[in-house]
Amino acid sequence: MNLHEYQGKELLNSFGVKIQRGLVADNHKKAVDVAKQLAAETGTGWWIIKAQIHAGGRGKGGGVKLAKSLEEVEKISNDIIGMMLKTPQTPPEGKKVNQVLIAEDVYYPGDNEPEEYYMSVLLNRATGRNMIMYSTEGGMDIESVADKTPHLIFTEEIDPATGLLAFQARKVAFNLGLSGKAFKEMTRFVTSLYNAYIGSDASLFEINPVLKTSDDKILAVDAKVTLDNNALYRHKDYIDLRDLREENPIEVEANAVGLNYVDLDGNVGCMVNGAGLAMSTMDLIKQSGGEPANFLDVGGTADAERVETGFKIILKDPNVKAILVNIFGGIVRCDRVAQGIVDAYNNMGGKIRVPIIVRLQGTNAEEAKVLLDKSGLDLISVVEFKEAADKVQEVLA
Ligand code: GDP
Ligand code: MN
Repeated sequence: MNLHEYQGKELLNSFGVKIQRGLVADNHKKAVDVAKQLAAETGTGWWIIKAQIHAGGRGKGGGVKLAKSLEEVEKISNDIIGMMLKTPQTPPEGKKVNQVLIAEDVYYPGDNEPEEYYMSVLLNRATGRNMIMYSTEGGMDIESVADKTPHLIFTEEIDPATGLLAFQARKVAFNLGLSGKAFKEMTRFVTSLYNAYIGSDASLFEINPVLKTSDDKILAVDAKVTLDNNALYRHKDYIDLRDLREENPIEVEANAVGLNYVDLDGNVGCMVNGAGLAMSTMDLIKQSGGEPANFLDVGGTADAERVETGFKIILKDPNVKAILVNIFGGIVRCDRVAQGIVDAYNNMGGKIRVPIIVRLQGTNAEEAKVLLDKSGLDLISVVEFKEAADKVQEVLA
């Protein structure tokens, strides 16, 4: 589950990580109110207005702007709320901005120039250990730093038995070139950041930039936080942080009825039981010249109701030109699945507008084929995997 920046920062702060403070608003009047409140609490006279969408690169896309007066807070918030914000990480049409974060300006002048660093916490899958990845080159596109100057990216791996050790936190601060107060602040920042990562069962933290202010404070200015869905049962208070408006509506609907569905860009819908078979079916579709429109695992119970729900979900995608049903009857009998398909087809009373290729294999596969062939419906039944591929190719041609 992905969080908004403002939610991620609140989560970090609850573990003692210092953040750029801010308050969220969903209209420009509220934005002015919270800007006043923030001024009273922090003494700030400038505010940074930040679009809250689940995508990075907002600054470059015009979703992060500095306001030097309450009039500007109102004007900028009004411009940003409701806009379709386009960044390199959004779909081409952009993402709708429903709310903004009004944050204190932390790039104020002082003895030193503010400096931006990069820091993330994530799992190194090769070693099976969490690691802190960090760089002096913060604020910008970390992918291009990795590409052009990989020696400027450091990693610190953490032994799960001991957790982050004090010397490791000091090493991070040292490699970032810090000394004095900033050095101490950074060791505390890294330690609390790692505690937050473990304590919240996160799978990714990306803080870009981590800021050293002109008076040597270390703050999280941005926060990309991804939580592990499988651990949410341990964090009931995080469940409300999910913003369904940021997710694919078809996926949300499918998941609500217990279907394992992932939306893809192609033209062939597929309905399969079992994740492994679903993956190989997608390969098969590609080999036959099509592109899978989705991943859909209907699971063990492929009865009429479930098949019908599956068809309805798949057909919500206007790009679908054909549907391939590929079900292995191990526990579930093929003839029952076939009956389910026939019933679902009839129940949908003509709403199925594309050819359906059905491949059922396993227990009672022969009976199933007879049932489908005799149904008089526009179903193409096949037995072999290869035949299924050929039929897909045929109907797409
Ligand atoms: P992203 O573009 O989606 O990664 O959003 P960020 O939260 O990283 O903000 C983008 C940029 O806005 C930062 O790299 C900063 O340069 C700038 N920024 C963020 N906070 C402040 C602030 O308090 N004052 C000023 N002047 N700039 C800020
Ligand atoms: Mn950022």
